[in-house]
Amino acid sequence: MSSDYEDVDEAVDTALEDDSGGYDVIVVGAGAAGIGIGIALAHVGIERFLIIDRDTIGSSFSSWPDETRFITPSFPSNSIGMLDLNSIAVGISPAFSMKIEHPTGSDYAEHLQDIASFFELPVRENMDVIGISKNDDFFHVETNDRVLYAKNVIWAAGEFQYPCLRGFDGSELCRHTATIANYGSLEGDDFLIIGGYESGVDAAYHLASNDKRVRLFDIDSPWDEDSSDPSVSLSTYSFERMRRAEFQKNVELFPRTPVSSVSLMEQVYEIKTEDGQIFKSNVQPLLASGFEGSHKFVSHLFDKREDGFPLLNEQDESTIEPGMFLCGPSVRHDNHDFCFIFKFRQRFAIVAQAIASSLEIGTDEFVEAYRGWGMYLDDLSCCGQECLTC
Ligand SMILES: Cc1cc2nc3c(=O)[nH]c(=O)nc-3n(C[C@H](O)[C@H](O)[C@H](O)COP(=O)(O)OP(=O)(O)OC[C@H]3O[C@@H](n4cnc5c(N)ncnc54)[C@H](O)[C@@H]3O)c2cc1C
Repeated sequence: MSSDYEDVDEAVDTALEDDSGGYDVIVVGAGAAGIGIGIALAHVGIERFLIIDRDTIGSSFSSWPDETRFITPSFPSNSIGMLDLNSIAVGISPAFSMKIEHPTGSDYAEHLQDIASFFELPVRENMDVIGISKNDDFFHVETNDRVLYAKNVIWAAGEFQYPCLRGFDGSELCRHTATIANYGSLEGDDFLIIGGYESGVDAAYHLASNDKRVRLFDIDSPWDEDSSDPSVSLSTYSFERMRRAEFQKNVELFPRTPVSSVSLMEQVYEIKTEDGQIFKSNVQPLLASGFEGSHKFVSHLFDKREDGFPLLNEQDESTIEPGMFLCGPSVRHDNHDFCFIFKFRQRFAIVAQAIASSLEIGTDEFVEAYRGWGMYLDDLSCCGQECLTC
């Protein structure tokens, strides 16, 4: 892949200097969703757009614990017309470019940086969005640096940087797995983990591999779910890990055991469960209880569904602020969720088409090409169920 960063940077600088006319689109967030939708915007022929990120391209992925890997496998299946499960763009395969089946977060962040460079996307890093409002048909996107103006905004700020830190008394005494840089360097031998879905099993597996004792609690029993939907059941990758000797030896599972409180007395953490059991450890308990999601930050621009998620029209646009779109794992329609990359990428072209049409850009060829790659999902009868949220 070619790297043309300096030229793109120059182009972005020029556009930022001269932004009085505003952008057609501003995308907030340069993660999997923001970079993927950016490529779709470029493909459909929208030129005046900008992707901004408070940090760097793929920064949520770079912040994953070092040992954590993708649960969804990458495979170079594009050659037979099936897009790599972890790809965010037509013609791209992380398996082919990285030669890794289960990338780490850092691997994938690097991959996103490479493709942003390859497609010469206009990305501006270190720009934190601190407010969005709409006046006179333009969105005013207030950042730490300046105010930008746009006809359309796509909110793609993800979930990872907005973890769920509540849920029971004393939850603030626990440490969320999203804040852990490396499981191998955690001190202590006796870990209590609250939340037994993918992140909890991942944490338990790495700690058990370092010969630490782990007790893993969940309100349900994700290890026994008999669903084929990976939003509900654990991934094959996690089931494989759970069968390994070190996991079997060191991890004790507590299904259907909701935690009611955590307290700290004389350097000993005490977990109480709803059925009256008490568990103690001198190691800070870990929270693997999911994410609040960044959509709460823009809740004033969307009507709300009963479950608190933004209410969207068929183009993933706000029903109360035309031009405000949502992209990524927080997209919900009825009981359909899009919490994995291979799910939410199918809505990029829907949003790109809606915006292109409003700008009077033809979209027939674009839609046909994306539909052919399974990247244009307008019939939602195929998928369902909920993701793990607060
Ligand atoms: C441990 C873990 C393992 C996972 N494994 C898989 C897997 O195997 N397969 C899979 O498909 N999915 C997996 N997922 C889910 C997947 O990572 C997420 O769905 C995906 O990262 C979402 O992409 P995103 O672009 O919406 O969010 P992010 O990747 O979080 O990107 C959002 C970007 O927005 C920026 N941002 C946030 N707020 C602001 C702001 N106010 N102003 C400006 N910029 C902002 C952030 O800096 C960030 O770069 C996993 C998630 C976790 C936590």
